[in-house]
Amino acid sequence: MREAGAMTEFDHSAGSLCLDFVATVRDWPERRIELLGTPAELTGWFEAEGLPAAAGGLTEQDLLDARALRAAVNDTTRSLIAGAPPATEDIRLINTIGRHPTPVFLLGPGGRTRAAVAEPDAAAALSVIARDAINLLAGPDLGRIRACDSDGCATLFYDRSPSGRRRWCSMRRCGEKAAAANYRRRVATRSRP
Ligand SMILES: [Zn+2]
Repeated sequence: MREAGAMTEFDHSAGSLCLDFVATVRDWPERRIELLGTPAELTGWFEAEGLPAAAGGLTEQDLLDARALRAAVNDTTRSLIAGAPPATEDIRLINTIGRHPTPVFLLGPGGRTRAAVAEPDAAAALSVIARDAINLLAGPDLGRIRACDSDGCATLFYDRSPSGRRRWCSMRRCGEKAAAANYRRRVATRSRP
């Protein structure tokens, strides 16, 4: 289990790195929640995912680049699962970012620590996400990428369950809500005269 950053409520339940990244913005009908509002929040997300962030901190431009990648992965994924052709510029952006060298980690003495070989930049962390998207979208499991079934949620997830029948982006956020609504409906039906 990965630990979430102390100051954030990032969750890592989307089933893949790139979809966890997409889930850092939630577009609900009634409100839009942006979890990556500042470069510091992006640093926090990188840390929560075990990705190195530049020691000097991230810039506004890094944040814009990250959001552009996030939008491209989101739009491309939704097009593909809808059976529609993805936008050429989105594919190009994912590929351009994925081409950047990714960070190199080495095991430390004793085998329980790891260190990045050289000072990585933001592009290196984004490259890891872009490559995850390339592997996921071009892989054999497109049918397991779905949008949450909950009313008005539609957060994307990759279904790793053995049955392949996962319906919710996260049990905590939508599964329990749906189960409670189901229960109330059943009780209401039963108590009707
Ligand atoms: Zn959901």
